[in-house]
Amino acid sequence: DYGLTEADPEVRRIIDKEKERQFKSLELIASENFTSRAVMEAVGSCLTNKYSEGLPGKRYYGGNEYIDELEILCQQRALAAFHLDGKKWGVNVQPLSGSPANFEVYTAVLNPHDRIMGLDLPHGGHLSHGFMTAKRRVSGTSIYFESMPYRLDESTGLVDYDMLEKTAVLFRPKLIIAGASAYPRDFDYARMRKIADAVGAFLMMDMAHISGLVAASVVADPFEYCDIVTTTTHKSLRGPRGGMIFFKKDPVLGVDLESAINNAVFPGLQGGPHNHTIGGLAVSLKHAQSPEFKAYQNKVVSNCGALASRLNELGYKLVSGGSDNHLVLVDLRPMGIDGARVEKILDLASITLNKNSVPGDKSALVPGGIRIGSPAMTTRGFTEKGFVATADFIHEGVQITLEAKRLVSGSKLQDFLKFVAAPDFPLLDKLSD
Ligand code: PLP
Repeated sequence: DYGLTEADPEVRRIIDKEKERQFKSLELIASENFTSRAVMEAVGSCLTNKYSEGLPGKRYYGGNEYIDELEILCQQRALAAFHLDGKKWGVNVQPLSGSPANFEVYTAVLNPHDRIMGLDLPHGGHLSHGFMTAKRRVSGTSIYFESMPYRLDESTGLVDYDMLEKTAVLFRPKLIIAGASAYPRDFDYARMRKIADAVGAFLMMDMAHISGLVAASVVADPFEYCDIVTTTTHKSLRGPRGGMIFFKKDPVLGVDLESAINNAVFPGLQGGPHNHTIGGLAVSLKHAQSPEFKAYQNKVVSNCGALASRLNELGYKLVSGGSDNHLVLVDLRPMGIDGARVEKILDLASITLNKNSVPGDKSALVPGGIRIGSPAMTTRGFTEKGFVATADFIHEGVQITLEAKRLVSGSKLQDFLKFVAAPDFPLLDKLSD
């Protein structure tokens, strides 16, 4: 039995190159982080060899004595990390990732073609919250359920709760989804609860981006108001790639969420759990209860604040004017440039972030903004000073992109700019035609 270097030098080399890229770049993608060596050890362990369909004590395979112990430990730590009373809340730690976790909730509490409302993707929502265009139902969520997105008030960059309420009263959704992939502010869960109650809908929060911040109590607590909370485990929570679903134990709207959700995960949509991931997740949930983790999450927020202030000083327009969490969304349109080209130029300088739609954008292919997150570089030890310098680097990148744009017509820069020009985004490029 050989190690990777002997068994497969080709894959070894690719991993080494990726490791070097991660090490050398300024990693500013808001949904990424660096997990710990301990988590990676668990993920790379013999736990990957075991089948364990079912739940602890109720498996369809033998030999699960230790896997049961592990999954129960992971569940207990998940509830403890989010300060939940195990009599009132339960959790399923088997979802393979965030999108499957969300779809599992939908199939648990909805019938095909029931109505849902989530934040529109061009306004910061996630594909799995029901994204569709005028011409196409894009995600499975919008194919199998009827989706009516809510949006931001474009003048403030904040969720337009008044419009959500008016629309919900007419559309009568069975599920309202809070949570986002690119929203720099807290959700008003109390308001959303009222709207959900008024129309008889379940209220779910997808806290994928901010779950680390929730665990550390540095943002509002969605568990106070929501019936179901889903999350990925690899973003601000800093665990391995995976997902979790938290559910209220008492029936909601006549539905026993515990059995509906557990059955939706298995046998509904998944087979054997990824036990190596559950092992890594248990480790990260232990970290998430430590004072160091709380201090880290406080720094994630203060670093992001420093980045936002510096960008404001430099004259950038930030969606909603700033940030309460781990990300800022910069509207580059007033600068006369788009997010796609800036992303590409910064990539050439090993600054990794992503282009992002901003409210009012016409094209998803060449969106007008960039999303910048603080979790990963905070893990790498960046302080506020580091994030102020990062804002200055980004500003330099924007200036270079503008200069290139100014010089381009008829010059030798044409080829360079072709390279820099908005790259195809395989899923979304079809949407603008
Ligand atoms: N939910 C939100 C809010 C997300 O931002 C993401 C991913 O970025 C997901 C769900 C999906 O997670 P995954 O990519 O693990 O399926």
